[in-house]
Amino acid sequence: CGIVGYIGHREAYPIVIKGLKRLEYRGYDSAGIVLYDGKDLKLSKTKGKVSDLEEKSSKEISTNGTIGMGHTRWATHGVPNDVNSHPHLSNSGNLAIIHNGIIENYEPLKKELINRGYTFKSDTDTEVLVNLIEDVQKKDNLKLGKAVQIALNQVIGAYAICVFDKQKPDEIVVARLGSPLAIGIGKDEFFIASDATPFIEYTSNAIYLEDEEMAIVRLHKPLKIRKIKDDSLVDPYIQELQM
Ligand code: GLU
Repeated sequence: CGIVGYIGHREAYPIVIKGLKRLEYRGYDSAGIVLYDGKDLKLSKTKGKVSDLEEKSSKEISTNGTIGMGHTRWATHGVPNDVNSHPHLSNSGNLAIIHNGIIENYEPLKKELINRGYTFKSDTDTEVLVNLIEDVQKKDNLKLGKAVQIALNQVIGAYAICVFDKQKPDEIVVARLGSPLAIGIGKDEFFIASDATPFIEYTSNAIYLEDEEMAIVRLHKPLKIRKIKDDSLVDPYIQELQM
């Protein structure tokens, strides 16, 4: 399973698709992509290979946009099918998430959200997380980063996640616990991936998130890394990759 994200000035689609292919060695049963074109979120996902996704998405959505997130899934909750594939959107349609890992306590969280009026399309633990983030965000009118942090503190499990909010389309919020997540830092662009292979041709500067860390990846801003538990700031350690 793997994740790839891009935010910058290039077309995201080819970067994300190529990146997902480079992560195929990690194993997966489904693949999906979401793009933001400055107006709408465009989603395409399928059971099968990244090449199946390429074929489906090129017919199903317009593939333009300079922000994108892609996922290869290794199903843990919910059978491998199109609907259970990632990305998942929140009920409002504003938030998109990709997730590698497991939310172990998704059942009580899902019950609580259903009581609060949320509905679910998939059988995944991940769709619970994206709606939990939305619920936290709406309750106190919070910024995305804060909402992700509060939600993750209610979660038991493992994750590498990327979350995008189309109401605040200059940033992607990422976090890790138990699943790898690397951030490639370019000029006016950022790359996110399970390892550096998807972005090594674009930049040699990378930050590897540690467990229990999250980052706000925002255009034209230095990267901010925090501890998920106590909100303390972490000094970003930028590694020089060998090209
Ligand atoms: N637990 C999530 C699911 O089953 C993510 C699986 C993965 O790591 O790809 O959808």
